[in-house]
Amino acid sequence: GGPVVIVGAGQAGAETAAALRDRGFTGPVTLVGDEPGPPYGRPPLSKDYLTGGVEPGGLALRPPSYYRDHGITLTGRDPAVEIDRDGQRLTLASGRELPYAALVLATGARPRPLPVPGAGLAGVLALRSLEDATAIRDRLADARDVLVIGGGFIGLEVAATARRSGARVTVVEAGPRLMARAVSAPMSAFLAGHHREQGVRVLLGREVTALRGDAAGRCRVAELDGGERVPADLVVAGIGVLPNCSLAAAAGLAVGDGVLVDDRLRTSDRAVYAVGDCARFPSPYAPGRLRLESVRNAVEHARRVAAVLCGDTPPPAAVPWFWSEQYALRLQIAGITQGHDRTAVAGDPAAGRFSVLCFRGERLVGTESVNRPADHMATRRLLESGAPGPAPADAERPGFDLKAFTR
Ligand code: FAD
Repeated sequence: GGPVVIVGAGQAGAETAAALRDRGFTGPVTLVGDEPGPPYGRPPLSKDYLTGGVEPGGLALRPPSYYRDHGITLTGRDPAVEIDRDGQRLTLASGRELPYAALVLATGARPRPLPVPGAGLAGVLALRSLEDATAIRDRLADARDVLVIGGGFIGLEVAATARRSGARVTVVEAGPRLMARAVSAPMSAFLAGHHREQGVRVLLGREVTALRGDAAGRCRVAELDGGERVPADLVVAGIGVLPNCSLAAAAGLAVGDGVLVDDRLRTSDRAVYAVGDCARFPSPYAPGRLRLESVRNAVEHARRVAAVLCGDTPPPAAVPWFWSEQYALRLQIAGITQGHDRTAVAGDPAAGRFSVLCFRGERLVGTESVNRPADHMATRRLLESGAPGPAPADAERPGFDLKAFTR
C-alpha cells in the first residue's frame, strides 16, 4: 500500500501504526506528534504517576526500539498544520510535507478552558499530557489545600490521589451529582459518600466564581458562588475536554463535536479517517453517533481502521467499556449507559462491592460495577451476544447472579 500518515502520536495513533504492522501492512507509516518523547498511556497520569508510583519511562506504550524495528517513523514534536486533500499531502509546522495514500486523524482532545477570573494564576492546572501531570506532581509535593474543579473521572481520580498524599481536598461540582455524564444516580451517590468518608469536602451544585492569588501571582484562594472562600494553593480543573478537530474542519471535513466518521471510521473524504477521542462514530450499542474518551475505544478504533486500510473485513464492534480507580475502588462500566431510564442495584454498596444495572425500558444497556469484576465481564458477554439478559425485577431478587444469564 501507499504511505499511511497518522496525525497524533497518542494512544489511538500509536495503536493504529502497530495494528497496521500486525496485519502485515508493508508500506511506509509515519506518526506525526506534537509532544516530546515516544507515545505513552495517560491513565496513570491522574493516579500513580502523581504520587511518584510510576516514572515517565514506565508510561511508554511500547519501547522506543519498537518503532525503529517496525519501520514506523516518529516525527517528534512537529504538529500537523494543514491538510491538502486534493494533493493528498500533510504539512507540518516545520514546513515538512508528507504525501499520503491514507490519512488517519488521531488528534485526541484538549481540556476545556476554565472560564473564571484567575485561571491563569500559577498553581491552576489542567490535566491531559505528561507535561501537565508533571507540573501537578511537582506542586502536589508541598500543596496543603487542593481544589478540584469538576467532579468527573479525572477530577475524582486526582482528588483520591491528592488525599493519599495528605493534602486537604475540596471538590467543587457545578451539577447536582458527581460523574453525571458517565454514571447513574445511585453510583454518583455512592462515590460522593465514599469521597467524603475519605475526608474530601464534596460540594455539589456549587461553582467557583474566581481564583485569587498573592503578590507573586500564585493561587491562594477560590471564591465560590454565595461568597464562600476556600483556601487553594493547587487547583486542578477537570471540567471536560474538547475534541481536536480544527485541522479537519479547516480542510472542509464534516465535524460536529468530533470528526464525523462512518462505521469504517471514514470521514467525508474517502482517503481520510479519524479514530479515538476525536472521532464521532456510529455504534451498535447506542443510538446516533457517539464520541468516547477511553483507552478501550482508542484501541478498538485502531484495530478497525487498520483492517479497513488493509482491505480486510473489520472485526465486529466490541462492547464499549471504561474503568476508573479511586482509593481502593475499581469502577468498571460495560456498555453505553447514558439514556437509561431504570436502575437496579445488585450486591452491597455498604461493603464496597456492588453493581448498578442500567436499563432502557426492560433491556439491560450496561452495568457499573465497583469491585465486582464478574458482573462487568458478564455484562460484556451478554451485550455482545445479544441475549435477552435480566429484567430489572430479576436483578433485585436475592441471590441474583448476572452470570446465569450469559448461558
Ligand atoms: P490522545 O491520547 O490525547 O492523543 C492525541 C495526540 O495527538 C496527543 O499527543 C496530541 O497532542 C496530539 N495532537 C493533537 N493535534 C495534533 C496535531 N495537529 N499534530 C500532531 N499531533 C497532534 N481512559 C481509560 O479508559 N481509563 C482510564 O483510567 C483513563 N484515565 C485517564 C486519565 C487522564 C489523566 C487522561 C487525560 C485520560 C484518561 N483516559 C482514561 C482517557 C484516555 O487516555 C484517552 O481516551 C486516550 O488517550 C485517547 O487516545 P487518543 O489517541 O484519541 O488521544
